[in-house]
Amino acid sequence: MIDDKAYSLSKIELLSDLSSTELAELAFDFQWENYGVGAEIIKQGQAEHSFYILIKGKVDVMIRKEGQRVRRVRSIESGGSFGEFSLLDGKPAATTILCQEECSVLMLDAEGFARMLLRWPWLYQRFIGKLTQNLNEANLILSEAKYKEVLRSALQLTQYKDKFYGLWGGPRTTAEIERKLEEFSQAKGHILLTGERGTGRQMMAWYIHQRQALTEAPFVVVDGRRFDQQWRDLILESDNQENPSSIYNSNLFDIAEGGTLFIREINLLSPHTQLKLAQAINFQKNKCIVIGSLNSEPDDLDRVIIPELRKCFAHTYEIAPLRKRKRDIPILAQGFLEKLAKKNQRNVPVLSQEATQLLLSHHYQQGNVSELIQVIERSFHISEQDVIGLEQIFFGPTAEQNGHTINLLGWPTLKGLLMKGSLIGWLRRSVATMFIALVLLLLFRPEVAVSTKVFALVWGLWWPALALISPFLGRLWCTVCPFSTIMDFVQRRIHKNHPIPQVIIKYDYLIFSILFLTIFWVEVITDMRFNPGYTAILLISIQACAIFIAILFPRHTWCRHFCPLGGFIGTASVGAMLEVRADTSVCLNKCTTFECYVGTKSVSGCPMSQHLPYLDNNLDCKLCFNCVRNCPNGSVQVNLRLVGREVWHLVRVNQGFVVFIGVMLGILVPLNYFGAFQTKELSDAWKAWFTLFYWGSGFIGGIVAWIIAKPFKTKSASLRVKLIFALTPLVLAGHIIYQVAYIPGIRSLFFAVVYKTQAGLEMYNISAAFLAYSIVSVFGLVLTGITIALVLLRTKIKRSSQSTT
Ligand code: SF4
Ligand code: SF4
Ligand code: SF4
Repeated sequence: MIDDKAYSLSKIELLSDLSSTELAELAFDFQWENYGVGAEIIKQGQAEHSFYILIKGKVDVMIRKEGQRVRRVRSIESGGSFGEFSLLDGKPAATTILCQEECSVLMLDAEGFARMLLRWPWLYQRFIGKLTQNLNEANLILSEAKYKEVLRSALQLTQYKDKFYGLWGGPRTTAEIERKLEEFSQAKGHILLTGERGTGRQMMAWYIHQRQALTEAPFVVVDGRRFDQQWRDLILESDNQENPSSIYNSNLFDIAEGGTLFIREINLLSPHTQLKLAQAINFQKNKCIVIGSLNSEPDDLDRVIIPELRKCFAHTYEIAPLRKRKRDIPILAQGFLEKLAKKNQRNVPVLSQEATQLLLSHHYQQGNVSELIQVIERSFHISEQDVIGLEQIFFGPTAEQNGHTINLLGWPTLKGLLMKGSLIGWLRRSVATMFIALVLLLLFRPEVAVSTKVFALVWGLWWPALALISPFLGRLWCTVCPFSTIMDFVQRRIHKNHPIPQVIIKYDYLIFSILFLTIFWVEVITDMRFNPGYTAILLISIQACAIFIAILFPRHTWCRHFCPLGGFIGTASVGAMLEVRADTSVCLNKCTTFECYVGTKSVSGCPMSQHLPYLDNNLDCKLCFNCVRNCPNGSVQVNLRLVGREVWHLVRVNQGFVVFIGVMLGILVPLNYFGAFQTKELSDAWKAWFTLFYWGSGFIGGIVAWIIAKPFKTKSASLRVKLIFALTPLVLAGHIIYQVAYIPGIRSLFFAVVYKTQAGLEMYNISAAFLAYSIVSVFGLVLTGITIALVLLRTKIKRSSQSTT
């Protein structure tokens, strides 16, 4: 046998420098040992063991780290050795040596090992070289193993029960899904779930898993979109192609062993990976249930999945999109609210009838039930009351940025001023003080107001200035409006906070229209522009109404749903060059707290109940800049943009405003042409005829606009709605022309054009009022023409691009 041993040792590279005599000498101390498959030659932590040279067979070097599974570090084939390192450092064995095959080894005990090193000290060097090489390899393998361990823990999520609401819909849908779940829990074989995005395929997979597997079994979710890059190599890896029983111990099936492997959008795997997955599923047999999901019609499956993979799935089930089972929407929505209320320890809010109708009218094509969940979660978090109304329901696509804009907040000084808010606060207080002083002056010293021209300036400058400024700078007047400042001051002290009646929200355009008509009519009929007392009463009445509404209802309900002045400048500002908008990607990916809507401790939320990612027009943004101060994510922008562009991009606008535009257009005829028949003292007959024509044309204007624009049931503005909004420049021009006549001194102002003729200098006088009328008319007509043309052009382009896709 000594010859045998010496012969075997002669083939070992480690001992290749020994002569035959030396090998014979060394072989004397070695003993033969044989081990079967699965035997452990050395155990990790074993204090005493020997040095081994593997002559035949194959062993695995296994390691177990605390709290982790046993992991294979590497394999040793015949000719390799093991046990030397712990003999060298005198510590217990760091790894386990496990036989993968029948093994024959030559064993040298610790004493013999020491003698060998004394006899041939250069062997130290060989061992140290080998140790270094092994350490490098082990490091690589261990870091790969660590990576896979991280993957494993990332994938083995079992807290899905908290992720899903567990609601399917109404009794009919719930019964059907329950029946399917029961069927799948009894059935054998893998499952394909089809359905649109957000229909609840993953939730269904989770509940199938719950019913089929043990509670602690892994539920591993991987995404088909990244499968090829991330997981392909983890489907099935064999160390040894000749021996497929040796499976790499970190493949996906190992990780999901005993549980479920859920592959989302399985059709997005490349055909090659699909084939590999099919082989892996067949090879791994029943190691875990595989559930694939995809957005496809059941009849279309053979087109998007290769036959080999298709055959792996014994069952297929299609989950219907939410728009095909709308009866489920109210039940689901209320169910989500109940669960949210329980989780947040709040009263369960209820959805108002109008809010429910709004939810029912939506098609949820973006995300089905997931989209509904987002809408409900958002409404729950932003609602301050137990009734969720129209104002808390935001859905559909978020606002899109149209064209190039310049964010003025990129200018640090302006940003600092707006963030601090002290300048705006100071301006508001100053304007409010001036307003109170003006009202007192008009009431108690009207003669001073008239003689100092203050009174004339109010009517002659303020009104025309509003009409002129708003189309360019938006609702900048609202930033400092004294009605709002005083109303806010009172509201902070007395506040009933009743929910806004839905009828007000739904028909606010009628409120604006009627109040606007009334105020203008009273103003003309009472000749208020020449009467300081009446003017003071009008201002006090508006302020009293604003305060009354502010005490009753939340936020600035007056500004959003009542104020005719706000309605006028809001409409004018739709095409303005100044806008407040949010970076929707930041809002959607970063924000869970919605401070722009709910506010912070120091600054109240949006007074107009706007949720910034959904704000896409100027109509209801009163430029208070609260959102700039409140947003913790720096998402809000104050942009400069092209004038008028918003009109041809209108989407989520209050479409009822077409009635208001029609009313404003209608009254221009009596306002601008009845003056010609006016005597110094307004006669009763004139008043009667004016009243008739004024209200008649106002109503006709509103009704015609309504008939043209209807039905405005869609969420996004139709072409007709946009065309009526495109008339805004004309409406404004008409109102400016009316106001220009009241600018103090304008009727007696003339511009002279002097030109030279053969007879000498000739002079041509142009009245300032006529010049103003002409300029404003031309501007109004040209801008309206351009806007209408652009609306039509853009719609045509959009339609043709839709028809080609
Ligand atoms: S909507 Fe009316 S009350 Fe409100 S800030 Fe604007 S002008 Fe003032
Ligand atoms: S604007 Fe700011 S607070 Fe509002 S949703 Fe976007 S990130 Fe959130
Ligand atoms: S908070 Fe923002 S969105 Fe709301 S009104 Fe003020 S500026 Fe406009």
